[in-house]
Amino acid sequence: MATELVDIRVSATERIDLEGEPVKIIVGDSTKRIYHVYEGVLRNKLAFFEVALKTEWKEGTQRIVKLPEEEPNVFCDFMQWLYTGRVPCIESLYHVEHEGYMQLVKLWLLADHLIVANLQESLVNAIVAASREPFADRYPSAAVVEIVYQRTAVGSRLRKLMLDMYTRHVDIDWHIDNLNHEFAIDLLKALASNRTTTDEAEPEFSQLFKGVPCRYHVHYDNKPCDGGADKA
Ligand SMILES: [Zn+2]
Repeated sequence: MATELVDIRVSATERIDLEGEPVKIIVGDSTKRIYHVYEGVLRNKLAFFEVALKTEWKEGTQRIVKLPEEEPNVFCDFMQWLYTGRVPCIESLYHVEHEGYMQLVKLWLLADHLIVANLQESLVNAIVAASREPFADRYPSAAVVEIVYQRTAVGSRLRKLMLDMYTRHVDIDWHIDNLNHEFAIDLLKALASNRTTTDEAEPEFSQLFKGVPCRYHVHYDNKPCDGGADKA
């Protein structure tokens, strides 16, 4: 039982205009999908459409907004959020793998294009929540990272999230073959700066600090190590 009364009233100035012809939104390039949305719904939530629908623009006059570079499926998720405030997952809520992360990341990138900061925040929360599920992959695939790095700039918060997920969770069996090069360098730096020990006594690295670095010698014909002395 709810403990607080929830009051749904708002000021009359927050009334959304649901009159007139809807705006036509054409999404995609080769494969197009067309949506019709009331202008009031768009203007209410989205600064992008506030600008796009200004009458001096061609789009504003014709009441058509074209988004050729966006994927129809991703825009479909966006419409789900626009009307319900939720994003229905294409994978199980509790068993999140590649496709689940890809869906959330692509929607974040669309929100970035349309400048919808509150959706971007919600999606970051969703990505983190997904990674915490008991049967989830703890970090997105290399293909997801690739898209993030292709479509964001240095300093992006989403890049930082990808980096931290890998830095914290990546394991020794991780496949690096297809990792985005720029991300690989960022990850290397992050792993180096997160190195927990500089102990000179650590067995694996002790020969860097004292004694004969035999670990790195080449002993031809399996001859015993002579310590590297010059016998000539
Ligand atoms: Zn040796």
